[in-house]
Amino acid sequence: MGLSENIASVREKIASAAERAGRKAEDITLVAVSKTVGAEVVEAAYREGLRCFGENRVQEFVKKSEVLPKDIEWNLIGQLQTNKVKYIINDGVALLHSLDRFSLAQELQKECVKKDAYLDALIEVNIAKEESKSGLYLEQVDAFLDQIAGFDRIRLRGFMTVAPYTDDRAYLRKIFAQAKALYDAKKKDFPGFRYLSMGMSNDYEDAILEGSNMVRVGTAIFGSRIYK
Ligand SMILES: *Cc1c(COP(=O)(O)O)cnc(C)c1O
Repeated sequence: MGLSENIASVREKIASAAERAGRKAEDITLVAVSKTVGAEVVEAAYREGLRCFGENRVQEFVKKSEVLPKDIEWNLIGQLQTNKVKYIINDGVALLHSLDRFSLAQELQKECVKKDAYLDALIEVNIAKEESKSGLYLEQVDAFLDQIAGFDRIRLRGFMTVAPYTDDRAYLRKIFAQAKALYDAKKKDFPGFRYLSMGMSNDYEDAILEGSNMVRVGTAIFGSRIYK
């Protein structure tokens, strides 16, 4: 299938899952994960109407954002090294999905103060406690929120999670439901919360059924990635 058909199919599935969940398709933000995909292909997806793209490497984001349309909303979804923070503040990152540790929050706050900027960010949570993945465990979230409470330059917008890779739909739904419960509980104290980022090519429909309003889809749009 071509890019255009892939995008149409993903949009259809998002709409159908949203409907089944009693919500509207336009309430769900599609972040097209364009890591490893060339700028000309990202531009083709842009011409299909996509505006939110997700990258996991800072260098790659910088390269693409320089040559691609300025109204693209770039989402940084991968683990961020503190020494890369200087490249993302005031440089066109609309949303960081992977705030996962105190040292990173400290560096983000510091760099924002220096540049008189703000950053929208999601806290990454590791619901299933997979060792291969980053993100806070559920029981660490409260302490983390307390620790960064004074960091006024980081605008917390919600949570992001990556579910385990499995075909066990019931298990996936359970993981997503836990993230949704966390999001709902904290939204009461954080009126700026608006995104629960969960769902990838393998599981975005399940994620939407459990309350995701932001899905990060790469393979189902661009095909499988070739890592160099
Ligand atoms: C690569 C990646 C995605 C997209 O994964 P696909 O399975 O290709 O849809 C989503 N979220 C994160 C954090 C990723 O690293």
